[in-house]
This record gives sequence, structure tokens and C-alpha cells, in this order.
Amino acid sequence: MAHIVILGAGTGGMPAAYDLRSAIGKEHRITVVNALDYFQFVPSNPWVAVGWRERKETTLPIAPSLAKKGIDFIAQRVDRIDADGNALELADGQRLAYDYLVITTGPKLSFDEVPGAGPVQGHTQSICTIDHAEKAWADYQTFLQDPGPAIIGAMPGASCFGPAYEFAFIFNKDLQRRKLRHKVPLTFVTSEPYIGHMGLGGVGDSKSMLESEFRNHDIKWITNAKVTKVEAGKMFVTEMDENGQPKKEHELPFKYSMMLPAFKGVDAVAAVEGLCNPRGFVLIDEHQRSKKYRNIFSAGVCVAIPPVEVTPVPTGAPKTGYMIETMVSAIVHNIAAELQGQSADAKATWNAICLADMGDTGAAFVALPQIPPRNVNWFKKGKWVHLAKVAFEKYFMYKMKNGTAEPVYEKHVLKALGIVRLEK
Ligand SMILES: Cc1cc2nc3c(=O)[nH]c(=O)nc-3n(C[C@H](O)[C@H](O)[C@H](O)COP(=O)(O)OP(=O)(O)OC[C@H]3O[C@@H](n4cnc5c(N)ncnc54)[C@H](O)[C@@H]3O)c2cc1C
Repeated sequence: MAHIVILGAGTGGMPAAYDLRSAIGKEHRITVVNALDYFQFVPSNPWVAVGWRERKETTLPIAPSLAKKGIDFIAQRVDRIDADGNALELADGQRLAYDYLVITTGPKLSFDEVPGAGPVQGHTQSICTIDHAEKAWADYQTFLQDPGPAIIGAMPGASCFGPAYEFAFIFNKDLQRRKLRHKVPLTFVTSEPYIGHMGLGGVGDSKSMLESEFRNHDIKWITNAKVTKVEAGKMFVTEMDENGQPKKEHELPFKYSMMLPAFKGVDAVAAVEGLCNPRGFVLIDEHQRSKKYRNIFSAGVCVAIPPVEVTPVPTGAPKTGYMIETMVSAIVHNIAAELQGQSADAKATWNAICLADMGDTGAAFVALPQIPPRNVNWFKKGKWVHLAKVAFEKYFMYKMKNGTAEPVYEKHVLKALGIVRLEK
């Protein structure tokens, strides 16, 4: 019997547990360890931040769902990974031994790289967790009493730009519905070299399309923006030129701001000797396996992938749902194969497919492969994307509650977009 431990029960970890359960025999034990006792559907957080969703719609208790599938669950933070001793040390002092470890710990939110940033010790909101999104919603309601300038965007070193665009459009739409938009000058401040870059070097005509959408919605922008400091009500931004030299200094007043931070690997993972790159992301081979510890696999935001290109202000490449799903599928195949004495030869497809909501419409993009030039480079806008995103949220929550082992993107999204044939 093997004991497989999955560390992190988010977008990658929960499906990994269900898929593994259906792929390996009941004689093998699976345990999920997560710092919190609930699952949260992170892509819904922009809606939570404007009151379009509530916590109860986008979270669910983990233990009952995993129990139904015969998967053990421990709601504890992991403080240390003893990779040489094949064990985890949990915050309550427990030591949990494993034969295989799957690390799906997502990001550490690196607000401390910009003084004054972040929702706890700083002055900017975040939508990265349900707690942050709820705080963003509470502060938004105060802002609505006395509206003024707003700033939305992404900090230097950020990689997850899609949600910043989503939030800018959703924020815009919500203010329009409340007939308050005319009181809110809105600026999008981003480390990307141009609007629509998204850490991917652009996708199709994302630059023109998103610039046009910003113009149509009276959203101004500053690109190549290095936010250096945030004070209460004021953001300090150095705008760089294409050579990475300072071009212009901005002092931007605001009454509300949501800025996506740079990501790092979480402390317990980053601290393991030889496991990670300097930012704490897990170094893996093409089979999602640690280069140093051969019984450790990793998927999701916590893995190291190189930036698509060097940009004047540092940016990273996003790790989105479809990519995470294929990483998980590869890990499940590889662990199941090894348990049967076969070779672990499955690989993930590191492609980017994303549905981005814009309030009542949306934009879908497909970048295959992630690094240009691409075989598929597709970016489309339409109301159907908004509807598809709502349907995706409902389906993913259903799947997490009921333990359905099924790759959502592979089975539904790719087919709906008509791109299965192109990818293969
Ligand atoms: C606001 C936002 C919106 C997004 N929207 C989309 C979208 O629409 N489409 C898309 O494709 N991608 C989207 N993404 C990108 C990506 O899909 C998500 O970030 C996704 O949640 C990443 O999954 P993950 O499993 O890597 O990490 P997470 O879902 O963040 O899960 C990590 C889990 O590990 C746990 N954990 C961390 N450290 C420890 C520890 N030491 N001990 C125990 N547990 C630990 C955490 O509590 C968490 O439950 C979005 C990202 C953000 C931030």
C-alpha cells in the first residue's frame, strides 16, 4: 500500500485528490492537507468584491466531500516538509509520512514587495482569497457613500493579470448600474508593457481589443508601471520606457484601489533545500516531478515556469485553469503508472485558455502553446463568455462537492470552443 499526500486543496489539489482516487486502487491511501477547512473557488472572487456573490456560493467544506470518496482530510497548515524523511510537519505538531507528495499550495501573495500594498497592512484591496474579496466588498460599500478616483491593476512582478482586467470591467459595470460611474475616474496601472499583454506576450489581438474596451469604458491606463509605494489615498508609480529606464513619475490619488500582487512560493515549500527556484516555485521536469525529490510532484501556481519574455518592468507567465488541469492529469497518470510498475511518462500541456468576465460580457482567449509563435492564438469577446463563466463556476463547485473525477476543460471547455482537434 502507498500513501499519497496532497498538500493544498485548491483548484489543483481537490481535482488531484478525486482523479487519483478514481485512478488508483482502494488499497492505496490518499490524504489531503489544507490550511483551511473549506475549498474556495478563486475565480469568483472579483464578483464577491462587488457583492455579486456571497461566500456561501463560492466555498464549501472540504471534509464531507472527500470522505464520500474515501479520501482522508487534515485541516492544518504545513509548517515544514521533511523531504529527505518523506514526511510533513503540521502546525499542530503532527508528523505525516508519505510515499508520494503532490504539492499544490498555490501562491504566497507577496504584498511586502511594495511598501503600503495589500489589504491587511497596506492601502490596496486584493481579490486573491475569499477573505480579501469580502474585505474589498466591505470597503467598496464605504467607498460608494463618497466615491472618487479608483486604481485597479497589477504590481511589478505580477503574473496573474486576467483577474485585474476582469475586476476593472466588473467594477466599471457595477458603478454604472448604481449610476455612480461618472463620479469615479478609473485608471488601470499595470506592470505589463502594453494593455492586453497578460504575461503572455498578448494573445491574438488582445492589445487592440482591450485598449478599445478601456477607451469605450473611460478607463485610462499606465503600462510599464512600477508601483514603488502606496500611502493612504496615494499611489507612487514610476513609468518605465521600453529599455527599463524611468520615463515619468506619477503620484496618483485614489479612494479605492485593487492591485494584484506578485506571487511567490509558500514558506514551507520554498524552504526545502533544492526543491525550488529563488522565488520559491517548485522546479519540476516535464512529468511534473521534482528534479531533486523523485517522489514529489507539483501542479498549479506553485510550480516554476519561465516568463514568456523579458519585460521592462518584471512580469511572470500566468498559470491558469486549463494548464493546472493538464498538470494534475499528468501527475495522476504518472503516480498510477508507477504504482503499477510502469513508467511515469505523461506530460502536461502548458497552454493558456481562459474565460475572463467583463460584467455582462466577457473575453475568451486561447494560447497554444503559451510561448509565441503559436498554433492557436485566439481572442474573442461576447456575452456568451459571461454566461460560460457563470456556468463554469456552477459546474466546478458541483464537481468539487460531489467528487466527480473529470477534467472540465478537456471534456467541456475545449469542446465548446471547438479547439480539441487543433490542439492534438
Ligand atoms: C482572483 C483570481 C482569479 C482567477 N481567475 C481565474 C480564471 O478565471 N480562470 C483561470 O483559468 N485561472 C484563474 N486564476 C488563476 C488560477 O487558476 C487560480 O489562482 C487557482 O486557484 C490556482 O490553483 P492552485 O491549486 O495552484 O492554488 P490555490 O487554488 O490557491 O490552492 C492552494 C491551496 O493550498 C493551501 N495551502 C497553501 N499553503 C499551505 C500550507 N503551508 N499548508 C497547508 N495548505 C496550504 C491554500 O490554503 C489553498 O487552499 C485566478 C487567480 C486569481 C488570484
